[in-house]
Amino acid sequence: MLIASTALLLYAAGYAVLCAVSPFGPCRKCAGTGLRELRKRAKVCRRCHGQRRRLRLGRRVLNSGRRTHAAGTRPNPTTEKKGTPWH
Ligand SMILES: [Zn+2]
Repeated sequence: MLIASTALLLYAAGYAVLCAVSPFGPCRKCAGTGLRELRKRAKVCRRCHGQRRRLRLGRRVLNSGRRTHAAGTRPNPTTEKKGTPWH
């Protein structure tokens, strides 16, 4: 049990590092070619629009969290603490 949970944590940490270092991964639908073969005709992949790379799932989750955090915080947090009016 300890080995399995350690392996899972190491895998998650490795995936987080991978998402931080390389946020884009090869498209899974076209296997990184940018083209799909449909009825013996090559068409541009609809998933990646021919760019051959897509944003990794972990990076997408991180970006979503950042957007949510930014939307929920004040745009210009005041750093100076204003005291009471009589101070
Ligand atoms: Zn693709």
